[in-house]
Amino acid sequence: MRDPRYSVAGSNYRLDARQQELVEAAESLGPRFAERAARYDREASFPHENYADLRDAGFLGLCVPESHGGRGADFRTYSIVSATLGKYCGATALTFNMHACSTLWPGAMADELDLTPEQRSEHERHRAVHFGRVVREGAIYAQPFSEGSAAAAGKAPFGTTATRVEGGWRINGKKIFASLSGAAHYYGVLCTEAKPQLSMRDTLYIAVPGDAPGLSVVGDWDPLGMRGTVSRTLVFKDVLVPDEAQMMPRGAYHQAASRWPHMFTTLSPTYFGIAIAAYEFTVRYLRGEIPGMPPVKRRMYPTKQIAVAEMFVKLEQTRALFLRMLDDARIDPPKDARLRAYATQYTIMENANDICRLAIRTCGGQSMLKSLPLERLYRDSRCGALMLPWTAELCLDRIGREALYEPGEADD
Ligand SMILES: Cc1cc2nc3c(=O)[nH]c(=O)nc-3n(C[C@H](O)[C@H](O)[C@H](O)COP(=O)(O)OP(=O)(O)OC[C@H]3O[C@@H](n4cnc5c(N)ncnc54)[C@H](O)[C@@H]3O)c2cc1C
Repeated sequence: MRDPRYSVAGSNYRLDARQQELVEAAESLGPRFAERAARYDREASFPHENYADLRDAGFLGLCVPESHGGRGADFRTYSIVSATLGKYCGATALTFNMHACSTLWPGAMADELDLTPEQRSEHERHRAVHFGRVVREGAIYAQPFSEGSAAAAGKAPFGTTATRVEGGWRINGKKIFASLSGAAHYYGVLCTEAKPQLSMRDTLYIAVPGDAPGLSVVGDWDPLGMRGTVSRTLVFKDVLVPDEAQMMPRGAYHQAASRWPHMFTTLSPTYFGIAIAAYEFTVRYLRGEIPGMPPVKRRMYPTKQIAVAEMFVKLEQTRALFLRMLDDARIDPPKDARLRAYATQYTIMENANDICRLAIRTCGGQSMLKSLPLERLYRDSRCGALMLPWTAELCLDRIGREALYEPGEADD
């Protein structure tokens, strides 16, 4: 039995039997992930061993619908499981987000979108191919969207294009920060159907095999944090893929982006997990419970107690918003739920880093040593607020604008 004080939902929060089982399974993978995390971080290498464990535990199919052989996790279940993984290895949880959402979006989320009967049956055929690869072959999917333009922020069409060819598509373009680069079997690329005028309405979501001719992984990867994500650059030069490569029907991504806003919050559970880990480490450190370390005998100082209290307050504020957001998430949420989703993403990303900052200041110099996890948690937590489309800045930007203007309103 894990200590419920450090669980994602906290004790007395109602999880159904399926959610409890999945959280327990994630918790049992956790200690191995935590043991390997320092090496992936030091080497900036991909967590292959962790993915083998995820595969063996049936987690690659976490969000694949049960009708397609998966575990059928919805947004809420996914988020709690993801945060649980985040407590142990941020890079694994963050990359697992890219993979899991590659099945959640074409799965449960697409089921709620308005599609014509023809689109629905085409999608059913296509997604059976992708889900089959994940469930039967253990395929890993990445989600490279970012291009270094305004597109990943949702303000312009993607510059990567898909040109219609007989029986499929020809892809050209470039994606930056492609987590799982070199490790993914498929890259689910957001691109724009090539027409004389590129439009966000023509966004396509297309899976490109990792070994496709014309696809190359370039550039180095030596960042501050989240080093195990191996998020290098992908270049697509006349890459040909068949029709079935489409992960969602034409127009469906654009519809989802405007009607299912919580789809963009799925990076944040990782960082909530990191915040819990930093808090747990601090309490255990000050209580002299870190294996291999002599007791530090500092907890009697009021400054330590106040810092821990401050961390606890921030953590509980974050948890309250996180759990509320899970209840809010649905298609066409009311405006206050949408604003709360921005506020939640903002709070998780900023508080995770702040809790890690307080943890280091409070535990002191020894906690910065690479032999302990705190300095890695601190560096990893710094990345959350930078992740598009909902960076901390853009969340504030959206809250301010949408609180003051209704759709279509403008000043004279
Ligand atoms: C560890 C890690 C892993 C990642 N993995 C992936 C991945 O798997 N797939 C993927 O697609 N991306 C991924 N990203 C990329 C990430 O989502 C961002 O796209 C990337 O960090 C943007 O960097 P940039 O410097 O080009 O940002 P810029 O676009 O230059 O933005 C810099 C800042 O300006 C602000 N800004 C940007 N656009 C606007 C605007 N229109 N209006 C107002 N303010 C704006 C934002 O706050 C942003 O933080 C990853 C990033 C990190 C750090």
